[in-house]
Amino acid sequence: LEDEVEENPEDLVQRPAIVTIMGHVDHGKTTLLDTIRKTRVVEGEFGGITQHIGAYQVSVQSKKITFLDTPGHEAFTAMRARGAKVTDICIIVVAADDGVMPQTKEAVDHAKAADVPIIVAVNKMDKPAANPERVMNEMSDLGLLPEEWGGDTIFVKCSAKQGEGVQDILETIQVVAEMRELKANPKRNATGTVIEAKLDKGRGPVVTLLVQNGTLHTGDCIVVGACFGKVRKMTDDRGREIKEAKPSTPVEIIGLNDVPVAGDMFKVFDSEKQARAIAERRSQTKIEQERKSSSA
Ligand code: GDP
Repeated sequence: LEDEVEENPEDLVQRPAIVTIMGHVDHGKTTLLDTIRKTRVVEGEFGGITQHIGAYQVSVQSKKITFLDTPGHEAFTAMRARGAKVTDICIIVVAADDGVMPQTKEAVDHAKAADVPIIVAVNKMDKPAANPERVMNEMSDLGLLPEEWGGDTIFVKCSAKQGEGVQDILETIQVVAEMRELKANPKRNATGTVIEAKLDKGRGPVVTLLVQNGTLHTGDCIVVGACFGKVRKMTDDRGREIKEAKPSTPVEIIGLNDVPVAGDMFKVFDSEKQARAIAERRSQTKIEQERKSSSA
């Protein structure tokens, strides 16, 4: 799956930025993700009751942003450990009344190791004890010097709870994304990464995929980790059925023969026979590896 196809530069088009939110526990990651998701209602984009599929998109200045809705570092680390590179920009949330804490440092380390640009959200600014200067000082000690102090890290003050500054964060993401020139080729067979997967009693394996390159269509033959199948049905982050998904789009699919693992990569093949052969070879290798490690 890792083979890279030569891209014709003419086929490359801009794709939405994929953003992860990290930070210390209770500093406001979930609240920020929820507040951002709600901006869709304000923009009149609301499409009924939102299903949770592990990622969602919002539109900012008529360009989309994809958020991985999996706060916590485990998902990020698990994906990176599997070689998956899914994030373009990392938001690190720091509570202004608490400052840099152990998991803040961890988040900075993860983002640096992954070579992902960081935007610092200085959260809980509505609290009387908020001390943004302290946050800027402590983050500077970790090598993240604020722009206003001559560095190149953008700090945005916000209150995720009250919605204050959240629009600034979204606009800052678009500025950083613009500089990154994030491109993909929607004309090729889709490739990407598993965000979440579970077994549903009625529907079988239900898998959230992030399409990172190419376009995924219903009916496509797909290998996902050591699983395979045909995309029988595809729904977007609002639970609406769709027929195709372009780069940076999260989708939920059914039709696989088994449940893959978050961080597994997927690829579309031209024939089902080929997809099946590759998946079978992989599950064989997996069984052999497991046998080896259990006898060791
Ligand atoms: P997480 O563990 O990082 O996901 O943090 P949560 O989003 O669950 O937030 C932890 C607590 O802080 C909750 O009680 C939130 O309501 C509260 N909280 C989050 N953001 C803000 C904020 O901007 N201002 C205030 N006052 N409280 C906040």
